[in-house]
Amino acid sequence: MKKIYFVTGSQDLYGEDALARVSSDSKNIANFLREKLADTVDVECMQTVRNRDEIINVCLAATADADCVGVITWMHTFSPAKMWIRGLQLLGKPLLHLHTQYNEHIPYDEIDMDYMNLNQSAHGDREFGYILKRLGIPHAVAVGYYKNEDVVEEIRRFCRVAKALDFSRNLKVAMFGNNMRDVAVTDGDRVESQIRFGWQVNYYGIGDLADIAASVTKGEIDGKMKEYADLYVFNTDDVAAVREQARYEVALRKFLDSTGTGAFCDTFQDLHGLRQLPGLAVQNIMKDGVGFAAEGDYKTAALSAVCAKMACAGGATGFLEDYTYDLTQGSELVLGSHMLEVSPVFAASKPKIEVHPLSIGDKEPPARLVFDGITGDGLQISMTDEGSNFRIVTAGICLTAPKSMPKLPVARVMWQVKPNFTDGVKAWLNSGAGHHSVVSTALTIDDVRLFAHLTSTPITEIGLN
Ligand code: MN
Repeated sequence: MKKIYFVTGSQDLYGEDALARVSSDSKNIANFLREKLADTVDVECMQTVRNRDEIINVCLAATADADCVGVITWMHTFSPAKMWIRGLQLLGKPLLHLHTQYNEHIPYDEIDMDYMNLNQSAHGDREFGYILKRLGIPHAVAVGYYKNEDVVEEIRRFCRVAKALDFSRNLKVAMFGNNMRDVAVTDGDRVESQIRFGWQVNYYGIGDLADIAASVTKGEIDGKMKEYADLYVFNTDDVAAVREQARYEVALRKFLDSTGTGAFCDTFQDLHGLRQLPGLAVQNIMKDGVGFAAEGDYKTAALSAVCAKMACAGGATGFLEDYTYDLTQGSELVLGSHMLEVSPVFAASKPKIEVHPLSIGDKEPPARLVFDGITGDGLQISMTDEGSNFRIVTAGICLTAPKSMPKLPVARVMWQVKPNFTDGVKAWLNSGAGHHSVVSTALTIDDVRLFAHLTSTPITEIGLN
């Protein structure tokens, strides 16, 4: 399990007894957080740091520890912040500044100067906040008594986002083919993506996948078909077309595993060696949190994987496209879908496997999952390349049950735009955000804000207040 270092700052000024107390209080807080966050990370209490060398050492240790995804700092006493400069400059992991106090209440009858000197985070954490600001280090802050539920939740959010950042900084993204010809918004600066988010975006010929697909065995396809039968309703007689998708899924998973790839994209313009556009194959992989976007959109593919990592359990997170509108005045709706590739995490009921011709491209009719989407409040998250930087654009939406569309042969999700269609869509267009996005009913705007903040990415919020 990934872990968080809990680091308490102090100094030598107070003597052995006070420092022993600082140390035991820190352990108690770290233990409390370890229990509370056991489902998310392990919390490791580090030795109290008292001087510049100890601070440098713990910051270097956190940076070098592959299992450590972030650091929580807290100043139990005063800890002169010039001591922290070099260590913080060397720290390569996300930081949460916990501004708390060991005791919830002041012991009014007992309090003396010793007590005040020992319990002065009100004072020491302001010194620490100043140096973080002065060094320009983006970080999270949690304020309040550490046992308060909202403080614990703030820390838990940091841990989830820190884990997602760790995942992001090691994420390999495979592009089968390139960006769809002539399309602008799905393209991007892959070098800058790696510098800012860590995404190692590399091109593979679709032939690489076709070769693996050709070597998939009948037994492997049979196993996959059994899984499909458990998960989905067969609404087709064209078993051969479904088996073809099973072959692609086995091949894709072999590719993902052998290359350590966590997100991928393809394009229907480059399918040499494949008889169908991967549909069902991709959909069944997306449900496991593997990132995907179509038409060579590596940014949305990677973003969907990172968002899935960041999301807490429950809810749905995945790639969708703004496809068609219902412009009935006052009750406008967006129909979100794609040619095939909508994740079954959005399904309101058991998806059906169907086979239909594609009206675009020149391939055999592909098998795909068809379903109506879930309902509830959600977020639409998009990343745009503005040339000089990336921007995250996120909008509040409300997913509604799709009306019956018996002739539509793809999965569909519908939503209302917040605060209303005109203002929400106008703001989306003005921000330059595209037609591909990640839709999530599991992430909150606070999660997305923190991710943007910790990666120094500008964020535009629409319909969220
Ligand atoms: Mn598309």
